[in-house]
Amino acid sequence: MSQAFVFCPQSESWIYTGLNVEWLGLDTLELGKQKITCPKCGQLHEWTTEELVLRSDGAG
Ligand SMILES: [Zn+2]
Repeated sequence: MSQAFVFCPQSESWIYTGLNVEWLGLDTLELGKQKITCPKCGQLHEWTTEELVLRSDGAG
């Protein structure tokens, strides 16, 4: 599994969405627009699956 991150333009860093997804399953996710309260800047960010970046959590 991989951890899904979105970019925070305020702090210019990547924030964890709380999602763990499979690389191959990302295209099949139909989440629409999601909102996350940013742990870095405290603002509400909207994101879609197209904006996600995955990082392996090391567990395959
Ligand atoms: Zn932010």
